[in-house]
Amino acid sequence: MSLFQRDVTVCVLSSGSAGNCTYVGDKHAGVLIDCGVSTKQILGRLAEVGLADAPIDAVLVTHEHTDHVGAAAVLGRALAKRGRPVPFYMTHGTSRGVHPSCLPDGVEIVEAGTGFRVRHLQIEPIPVPHDTQDPVAYRVNVGDAAVAVITDLGKPTALLARHIRECHALVLEFNHDEDMLMDGPYPYPLKQRIKGNHGHLSNRQAQMLLADGLGGSLRHLMLAHLSEDNNTPTRALVAAQRTLQDGGAFGRVAVSVCLQRAALPPVRVTTNVW
Ligand SMILES: [Zn+2]
Ligand SMILES: [Zn+2]
Repeated sequence: MSLFQRDVTVCVLSSGSAGNCTYVGDKHAGVLIDCGVSTKQILGRLAEVGLADAPIDAVLVTHEHTDHVGAAAVLGRALAKRGRPVPFYMTHGTSRGVHPSCLPDGVEIVEAGTGFRVRHLQIEPIPVPHDTQDPVAYRVNVGDAAVAVITDLGKPTALLARHIRECHALVLEFNHDEDMLMDGPYPYPLKQRIKGNHGHLSNRQAQMLLADGLGGSLRHLMLAHLSEDNNTPTRALVAAQRTLQDGGAFGRVAVSVCLQRAALPPVRVTTNVW
């Protein structure tokens, strides 16, 4: 049995209500999680952070909201034109919910709770409570490293905490500050939707989930899907760091706030591969 080390790269290319896309991969295989910004932005930002040649073997779609799947049809055609047609993995519910004009060729149906492989990447779709047909978060395992992208959920779950406990890098929704949301300009029904059990995770709920799932392996935490109207990077950051401090993980976990209009610098996790 041979054992060697390899770097897994995680790069949030865009995050927020105007579009989401994250790259996870090593030098042999990779996936995009969601494709809710334009193809030009996805490929352009990959190039900007030095990942122009990073392998893209699949796109994992979390749910049918446009900020997660809007570019799918165009991106599929663009990757096919580069000689790399890729499958788009999504649940049956998501495939039914995607607007027909966004539906890409090569849809592969997945089930929440049933893992599958993309080359040597082990992928686990995890069910999340959100107001779409069958939404999931994704965990990607490469060797003994685990990365998860968990956004667009109305409340923490014990299952998500269990997955977070094994993660080395985590992209986690810190959508809104509860006071800012309630005092802010949104109409009442929209406020109710966002804070409902199938809406978005507040800073406080994200803290609860993180506290519940904080394990010894976490090294990188990226705060995601921040509302531009109902949150500030500082509020999210303070909330996350307080939770890390309380959990004895302050200083061990690098925290960054994802951006809507630019990629974060890629994060690298070293893994052992057999
Ligand atoms: Zn979203
Ligand atoms: Zn959504």
